[in-house]
Amino acid sequence: MVNVYSTPLTTRFRGIEVRDGVLLAGPAGWGEFSPFWDYDDAESVSWWLAAWEAAHVGWPPALRTHIPVNVTVPATDPERAHQIVLASGGCRTAKVKVAERGQGVDEEIARLEAVRDALGLTGAIRIDANGAWDVETAVERLRLLDRAAGGLEYVEQPCATVPELAEVRRRTSVLVAADESIRRAEDPFAVVRAQAADIIVLKVQPLGGVRACLDLAEQVALPVVVSSALESSVGLAAGLALAAALPRLDHACGLATSQLLVRDTVPDPLLPVDGMIEVRRPVPDAASLAATDAHLLDPLVAQRWEQRATRVARLAQARPASSGETTP
Ligand SMILES: [Mg+2]
Repeated sequence: MVNVYSTPLTTRFRGIEVRDGVLLAGPAGWGEFSPFWDYDDAESVSWWLAAWEAAHVGWPPALRTHIPVNVTVPATDPERAHQIVLASGGCRTAKVKVAERGQGVDEEIARLEAVRDALGLTGAIRIDANGAWDVETAVERLRLLDRAAGGLEYVEQPCATVPELAEVRRRTSVLVAADESIRRAEDPFAVVRAQAADIIVLKVQPLGGVRACLDLAEQVALPVVVSSALESSVGLAAGLALAAALPRLDHACGLATSQLLVRDTVPDPLLPVDGMIEVRRPVPDAASLAATDAHLLDPLVAQRWEQRATRVARLAQARPASSGETTP
């Protein structure tokens, strides 16, 4: 029987209210396999490889002991946005979700003003549109939101496609970061060839592990922001290991997302202190596993995960190994 965890989120995020996944224990430690449910089995193979690496191979040496992180502010009202920043554990950077369906620019402006107020003048504010804007909307919104925020650090994935990102980048002074265009793309280098981004966002699970991300970072040769896929602290530790192993780290990372989970899979979750998370690898214990055990909370979900993990593991084994990749 594998460990299947499930926890409610403190705030609805990415359209979901519950986060769940599988935890694997291996000779190198614990790994997390938690592709969102809108990822099919083929797309989940890289998530499996990341969990396998964590459990059976381990990670390259850390070059730093603490990683600066951002607080993540969902598409919520200004009062709540303000509170979230103040309760963030001293984060000096905030990532604010925008382009939420059903919301207008006034709500985004109010949210950014509230975040700026909570953060003070010296903090950095970045926004994430998750590819929702067309080019014209992006250019217009960025002008307004850059002003409302008192200057944006960057905008993450303003539009869906690489050519659109490239055009937005040419038409605005705000730096552009590519997220979905890296991790859900057939060819992550299209972003580089099109000069479509100033920064790339790397997520360990969707990109197939810490080593795969380090290789990609070296080849892309753009500044990197390591972000989570909203994992429990077992998965977050892989993101920290990547951030710690990168030769260069210029921006705060999106790894302070344990705050969004009502419960975590470890007794000592990876939370920021003074805006930094210590590079370490927390280990689940009997109590933390029991408190998040999907077999107890929702047996049907647990069964779905077991079946999914079995199918994806089989696919991962059947897949030919590409150069430099560690496969099970
Ligand atoms: Mg993003």
